[in-house]
Amino acid sequence: MEFSSSRNRQRQTRLAGDRRELYPHSLQFYLEPPTENISLVEFESFAIDRLKLLKVVENLGVSYVRGSESYKTKLESELRKLKFPYKALAEDDYEARRKDHISHFILRLAYCQSEDLRRWFLQQEMDLLRYRFNELTESLRQKFLEHVNLSFEAISEDLKNELSNELHASTPGLTVAKVKEQMFYKVGLVDAVDLFRTRRVFIKDGFAYVPLKEIDAIVLNNYRTKLSKALALTARSLPCVQSDERLQPLLSRLSHSYVGPDYSVQKNTGKVSLEQIDTLSVKSFPLCMRQLHKALRDNHHLRHGGRMQYGLFLKGIGLTLEQALEFWKKEFIRGKVDADKFDKGYAYSIRHNYGKEGKRTDYTPYSCMKIIMSNPPSQGDYHGCPFRHSDPELLKQKLQSYKIPPSGITQILELVKGMHYQLACQKYFELTHDVDDIGFSLNHPNQYFAESQRLLSGGRELKKELSNSGNSQQKSNTQESMNSNSTPTSSNTTADAELEGLEAYFTED
Ligand code: SF4
Repeated sequence: MEFSSSRNRQRQTRLAGDRRELYPHSLQFYLEPPTENISLVEFESFAIDRLKLLKVVENLGVSYVRGSESYKTKLESELRKLKFPYKALAEDDYEARRKDHISHFILRLAYCQSEDLRRWFLQQEMDLLRYRFNELTESLRQKFLEHVNLSFEAISEDLKNELSNELHASTPGLTVAKVKEQMFYKVGLVDAVDLFRTRRVFIKDGFAYVPLKEIDAIVLNNYRTKLSKALALTARSLPCVQSDERLQPLLSRLSHSYVGPDYSVQKNTGKVSLEQIDTLSVKSFPLCMRQLHKALRDNHHLRHGGRMQYGLFLKGIGLTLEQALEFWKKEFIRGKVDADKFDKGYAYSIRHNYGKEGKRTDYTPYSCMKIIMSNPPSQGDYHGCPFRHSDPELLKQKLQSYKIPPSGITQILELVKGMHYQLACQKYFELTHDVDDIGFSLNHPNQYFAESQRLLSGGRELKKELSNSGNSQQKSNTQESMNSNSTPTSSNTTADAELEGLEAYFTED
């Protein structure tokens, strides 16, 4: 894949001609990387759309039974919305097929970078393939199998009749009558290892006799092997790709990417008073921020990772610069830092956070992906995502202390075990707000806060409970409220890229 300069972005996003012959099927194993020229605009938009799609796949996989009608309906509607192939049978979906192909390879580049990323990507891509494969008609399924060199031999009617008792006894869920109706395939054991291990197929002379309805397990197994290997290979060639200065920042942002609103301070400035923060931390902060707030109150100090994460979150919920300075100073001088040291060592970095120093960038709060995927906490740190970075036993104790019911804790720990950290957080939201369905897909701590406030105030904007303490800017309570359903912006590119520079200002621990 090659990339054009973005100079003619608006006029020219599509560079290659029509290459319909590349996509004989709307479903593929993504064996060949795209070779056409592609503009950086298309590169980014394809990648973001696929990321959105995979997030939906993850969410649906936890909220619904895979393959159920609701699962299929919701996934199809998302595929349509994002303009990916939504029905394997659809004719003339060249553009969608092309987007599907290219976007898969872009995310492969972004998600090969660590074990965690690889595992997440693999899981979502497998679920997507499973859904699409099962949507194929029998004849298309056969064509696809041949296309990916998985053309298994269907056994003859005579052989099936001869083996019908064994097939019935060894294949759970099939009556003798159903055995008669089903097509069975003779498959080598290597390809049928999952079915063989779980005793779901009849084995004879080194072959598994697999009913058509189980063929998807084999296809998925095969795909998993291929994609795992491809991800490992891609990771090895990454240094070469990363040396391209146009791609490197894009790829690293994608793996931490957040594609929703940026929760920048302009929208919310002056919406909270300092006196509200203790109460809000219990009622409306996600666990990561609740943990940071408590650590700050307990220790009168936070190390730099915590100050960055929590400071920008507070900025996002509406703390003005003056409030932030007052908030941090009051707390720090209760500990080992005196007022003078605070002014010299910490105030600059807070002003920097608000774009008043250095490059004057108006920094935006961290998304969940950024918190989960980068800068893991060390001993003595309180930043990070508790669902990702806490020991499960400690997490359990913390949830118990927050009066989460035992059944809820079990559900959360199960999600954590499956590495669905944001879904675990959604469950925590549901349990702490007493709702059955969170009704949104959580991607950002400030989104959590905004949704919580909306719920608690019955759909109204954040209410002021107390007087305006030391803050002249709090009059602006007519400002637009944070709205997680607003049109997603492109990722917080400039801010994210420059955050690295900002961290240098936080020299004090
Ligand atoms: Fe915070 Fe996001 Fe983790 Fe929830 S999932 S605790 S909001 S980082």
